[in-house]
This record gives sequence, C-alpha cells and structure tokens, in this order.
Amino acid sequence: MKQEKITIDEVIKAFKNPPTHEGEKLVRNAFEFARKAHGDQKRASGMPYIHHPIATAKILATIGMDARTVAAGLLHDVPEDTPETLSTISKKFGPDIAQMIEGITKLGRIKLRGSKEEHKLENWRRMFLAMGADIRTVIIKLADRLHNMQTLEHLRPDKQLRIANETMEIYVPIANRLGIGEIRGELADLSFMYLQLENYQKTKHISEEKLKEKELYVDKAIKELSKALKEEGVHAVDLHGRAKNIHSLFNKLQKHDMDINRVFDLIAMRVIVDDVAACYETLGIVHKKYRPMIGRIKDYISLPKPNGYQSIHTTVFGPDGRVLEVQIRTQKMHDEAEFGIAAHWLYETRKTTGWKSYFLPKKDEIDRKEIEWVKQLKEWQEDLGNNPEEFMEGLKVDFLKNHIFAFTPLGDIIELPEGASVVDFAYAIHTDVGHTATGARVDGKMSSLDSVVKNGQIIEIIKDRNRPSPNADWLTFVKTSHAKSAIRRAVKKIKEDI
Ligand code: MN
Repeated sequence: MKQEKITIDEVIKAFKNPPTHEGEKLVRNAFEFARKAHGDQKRASGMPYIHHPIATAKILATIGMDARTVAAGLLHDVPEDTPETLSTISKKFGPDIAQMIEGITKLGRIKLRGSKEEHKLENWRRMFLAMGADIRTVIIKLADRLHNMQTLEHLRPDKQLRIANETMEIYVPIANRLGIGEIRGELADLSFMYLQLENYQKTKHISEEKLKEKELYVDKAIKELSKALKEEGVHAVDLHGRAKNIHSLFNKLQKHDMDINRVFDLIAMRVIVDDVAACYETLGIVHKKYRPMIGRIKDYISLPKPNGYQSIHTTVFGPDGRVLEVQIRTQKMHDEAEFGIAAHWLYETRKTTGWKSYFLPKKDEIDRKEIEWVKQLKEWQEDLGNNPEEFMEGLKVDFLKNHIFAFTPLGDIIELPEGASVVDFAYAIHTDVGHTATGARVDGKMSSLDSVVKNGQIIEIIKDRNRPSPNADWLTFVKTSHAKSAIRRAVKKIKEDI
C-alpha cells in the first residue's frame, strides 16, 4: 500500500462537517503539539511517526466526527509514546480530550490472545466496548486500527497475523455493530488479505474480471434510470454503483459454490433520493422500467436490520435483461449506512422517524445479542434528546456502565454487574469456588472478599477446601443473584444440619 504524506490542511478539508473557527484552531494546535512531542520518532515503515496520528485524524474527519474527537485522534499516541503526559494534555486541551486519550491508551493494552471460542470472543468485544467507556474513544480506536492495518506490511509476519486476527474477530464486529460500514468493509478486506492470502487473491481476481463488464452495464442502467426518474418528476440526489467488498463477496461465493454468476449483488446500484416517500416512488419507477425478480424485494426501511441499516433492496432484470440489484435510500440513511453512529454528528436535529421502528422483529435475521446491543445504544441515544451539545456530553457516559469485566489467572473473562465483589467473581466461576473462597489476589495483591471488582483486573481466588460453608455476612455485599441464592441455600442447609 502506498503511503502518502497527509498535511494538516488536508485533514481540515476532509471534515464532512466543516469545523468552526475555534474547532479548526483546536485541531491545528493539537497537530503542532503532537508533532513536537513525537519529534523525530519513526514508524516501522520509516515514515515520520506523526504521519500515523494525522492519518487517523483524517479518517475521523471523513466519517463526520467533530473537531474535539479529531484533535484527540491527533494526540492519541502522545502519552504512551512520548515524554508528554496526560495531565499536560488535560491542561492544554481540557479534561474531555484527555479522557478520550486515556481510554484509547487503555484499549491499546487489550490484546486478543489464544482462544477462538465464540463465547470468549463475544466477551472480548463486550469488554472492549465497556472499557472504551466513551463511544468516541471506540471510534478513534477503529480509525487508529484502520491506519495500522493499511500499513501492516511493514511489521513482522507473526505480528501481522496476530493483529489481522484480532482485527477480524474484534474490530470488524464492533464496526459492524456501530453501523460504520465504511470502516467495517476496509478492515475486513485488509484482515482477510493477511489471514487468507490465497482466498483473498482468488476472490479479488473473480471480482475484477466480472467487475469490468458489470461496470459498463451499471453505467447503462444509471443513464436509463435517471432519465426515467426525471420523467416521473422524482429528484435523485445521486445514482452510483458500488462493488461488494472482497471479504463479503468471498462469504457469498462460498454459499454458492464459488459461482460468481449466482451472486447478484456484486455491484449494486444505489439511488439516493430526498425522503422516504420518494424511496417508495422510486421503487415503483424501477419496477415499471425493469421486471423485478420475485421474492427479492427487501424493505429495510419499514423493517430495518438490527444494526439500524435502512434501504429498500430489489433485484431486477435490468438493461439487456441481465440481473441487477438496486438499493434505494435517503441521504440520511446513506450516511448512517456508511458512517453508522458517527453519522449522528452530521445530523444535529434527528428526526423521530426511524429510530423507534428499528426493533420490529424480523424473524430470520435476529441475533438476540446483536439486538440487545444496538437497543442499548439506541435507547441511550434517544434519551439524550435532540440537543447536539447534550448528545456530545452524553457520549462521555459509559453506555455499558453496568458491565464490569475481570479475568481469571488463566485469562477467562468474567462479566459482572457494577459494584460486584470478589465473592461474586468467585461464584461466577463456579459455586464450589464461591463456597470455599477465603481470600483473593487482585492484580497480585492480597485483597478482602468484599473488595469491589474493577474493569480489567486479574483475580485469583484463594480457596480452602476444609472451609465448612460460605459466610452469611457475604449476603450484605454480594450483588449477583447467583451468588445470593447459592449462599442462602448453603447457609440454610447448614442450619438444618445443626
Ligand atoms: Mn495509534
């Protein structure tokens, strides 16, 4: 991948939402500070280190983040890699930016090792989000990872594999959950290339061969359709073709015995119109012009996907009777599909349409966990109302405030509610571990059983097999119902035995 030098002016120009004068000044100051702090540090590629935070900042500006988040992107590696400290950043740029950077530094320490069992991966993703605390931190971390993936070729092969695997298992699903299609697709393709080079190349080859002829064909469809829309008086904001990314094409090809002719949406044609009514009007015009394929109309406007995705998809017999998928959406739906949660920075006054209908069940596509996740996120967004200032403030709120994640010495992750104690942790491992617990080492230090568990701690429970029973006093501080009922049962049994 070629690396271009990006200037701070280009970052300013890249803002999807142009910053205020103040905002621009903040970004430029952050840049100067980061440049001085990183000094003549170099990346593995030999490029000056500052290139990395600038590239991260540009990604953030492009997906619609505000000046403060972009400034935090510029400063994100300063405390970890330079002599400048977090408290200097806090003094110079305010506690808000400093807190975001602190979160990024914490997230940087989480590394995916070992196990690939799905429930463990799921715990990792949840811990990642919980430790991100501020959703902006998670978005900066995604942009940071995207640039690291773009420049991964400069690292040792074993590191490439570890990072690509971690990206595919943790970062891609998180980008997907946050609905940031733009970043998700690129992260998935880059990881796929490092993890399965042969399949990547094969798929890319198939795609490119087919794309050439498809592109000409889509161009023809665009001309025909824009004419038809104009005749019917529907204003199209944009019509364009979009090729499927390599990784999702590979997944699809696998379902169809690697037969590209059975993949109908290699390139989809997108029609962007002004409002929801125009979407349905456009659907009618498309079907009048091209015969629809039965059973291939998907209305994700009235029944959005769990991650909030909205559009109407239809597969038609297009020009020359060949199969073509057409996606119809408004500009807002389009931005939300590309930038996900980040799109909310773009829409100061969010309309009430859409959000509430996101959770209508769609039988075959429901993944309970996904729904729960997105639901939490959206509810939390709704609570914040329409005030953008308030919305920004609210992003500091830990949207998973009630979840704490700690490790066993073997690296298993135990999820607990906020305020849970070491005893809750012990019972979460196993009832017997709870019953026989006498103490704990928390991050290597001896701690009492009523200590409150904090995110990221490694906890070793000290057991005494001869211990007669759990202590009834534990009931005064345990938080989980599992621990409570196990203790009550054991205590009652002892009383009966006496
Ligand atoms: Mn970084």
